Amino acid sequence: MASIFTKIINREIPADIVYEDELVIALLDINPVNDGHTLVVPKEEYADFSSIPPELLGPFFERVQRIARGVTAGVRADGFNVLLNTGSAAGQEVMHVHAHIIPRFEGDGYEHWHGSGYDTEDEKKRTAERIRNALDA
Ligand code: AMP
Repeated sequence: MASIFTKIINREIPADIVYEDELVIALLDINPVNDGHTLVVPKEEYADFSSIPPELLGPFFERVQRIARGVTAGVRADGFNVLLNTGSAAGQEVMHVHAHIIPRFEGDGYEHWHGSGYDTEDEKKRTAERIRNALDA
């Protein structure tokens, strides 16, 4: 079944589209965290960040950067977060990859995640080793 974003791309359901080209569409999030919260969506329906073909990553992020500049200027933001929720455990609800551009304003009250650290230096080293091994595999 087509994703909600494919339906928007196909003009089957309405959206506030702020940018479109042959590769991506960008639209206002229907439930914005801040004014100007924008989603950048590849037109091809890849499920998540992990499944974007490597050759699309450069062009995709070039759009994300360009659109983020436009969003920031448009709503006069002081900064922005780019988020790619990947997998339901990470809060991904729409399984058609999209980058969130969330404009940030000084004093908007949002906090970053609080880190909790590692219990021991050993545990940290083991984690780093597991990741290195996975990357070598
Ligand atoms: P995620 O949790 O990363 O999958 O984010 C999905 C986002 O899509 C949420 O922030 C929703 O508010 C947004 N969203 C869902 N349906 C629509 C829609 N029809 N138009 C615009 N944004 C939408």
